[in-house]
Amino acid sequence: YAKKEGRRGFCFSNPAMQEQSARNLQLVSAMNDALEHDQFQVHFQPQISMQDGHVVGVEALLRWQHPEFGFISPGEFMPVAEESGLILSIGEKVLRSAVRQARSWMSEDFGPLTVGVNLSVVQFRDPHLPELVSRILKEEGLPPEYLDLELTESVAMSNPQSGIDMMQQFHERGVQISIDDFGTGYSSLSYLKKFKLHKLKIDQSFVRDITTDPEDKAIVGAIIQMAKRLGLRTIAEGVETSEQMEYLREQGCDEVQGYYCSKPLSSEQFQIFAKGYEAEAFVLPAQRMAAS
Ligand code: C2E
Ligand code: MG
Ligand code: MG
Ligand code: MG
Repeated sequence: YAKKEGRRGFCFSNPAMQEQSARNLQLVSAMNDALEHDQFQVHFQPQISMQDGHVVGVEALLRWQHPEFGFISPGEFMPVAEESGLILSIGEKVLRSAVRQARSWMSEDFGPLTVGVNLSVVQFRDPHLPELVSRILKEEGLPPEYLDLELTESVAMSNPQSGIDMMQQFHERGVQISIDDFGTGYSSLSYLKKFKLHKLKIDQSFVRDITTDPEDKAIVGAIIQMAKRLGLRTIAEGVETSEQMEYLREQGCDEVQGYYCSKPLSSEQFQIFAKGYEAEAFVLPAQRMAAS
């Protein structure tokens, strides 16, 4: 039962917390097994250029199908992976699989594709990260400009000074950096001029109601304008409808990613998707006519 300590009412433990920590322990041991038995998979969500409708990149997203518990979402296990430090091994595995896959697609007919890899704050704080990234790129044979590391604002700002150093190192090594979930953090915009960035990923929470909510419309429009003036590319996340596509196109957004184009796919599914893909499907009829 809840044990209240002193007058601050500091709560050491209650049944809900005990249950939570038991679940976390179970998750940690399951994640260790998963690493050992290769149960983690990387899926890929296509990123489409607004200019010509081509698939220009993919985002690598971790998938975990547990033999007993079924599908466990990254939202559920990531925090536990970070807390336990397992994210370092898991993250390295994701990085290697993503880079290897991008390299192999480059030699087939789909390429060249940029591959986005999400980084956790624990990875970003590891001073050996730039070396690790360069080593993986070299071993797998992918030119660095095809790797796009995704950092949320809070990850990027977790230590502003070492964050700047880290980004400088990636910049020198030729790797691209994107800000994920842009607009949802609490940081000031001043980091945009200090960090060496490539792309802003407009968070799906702004995109969702873009056609009905005048404020979301204004925010997304303003982000795209600002990014253009700063020389940064923009990609809208969570695009699900053609109406959202229209507005984003009108505003000059560079790329889109979302269920409208495709859900995240296994590498085999992505290959089928890419082979049957018709860029024209994502280009406006008017543009199609102008091009012909
Ligand atoms: P994120 O990086 O912002 O990834 C985008 C999330 O939006 C993914 O969820 C994706 O499946 C989902 N999504 C894509 N298109 C749509 C859409 O049209 N509508 C909706 N409603 N959702 C869409 P997912 O795969 O569950 O990942 C959630 C978060 O977990 C990611 O957010 C990322 O922060 C984290 N994550 C996933 N894989 C990794 C990884 O390998 N490493 C790290 N550090 N974090 C990861
Ligand atoms: Mg991401
Ligand atoms: Mg995001
Ligand atoms: Mg997110």
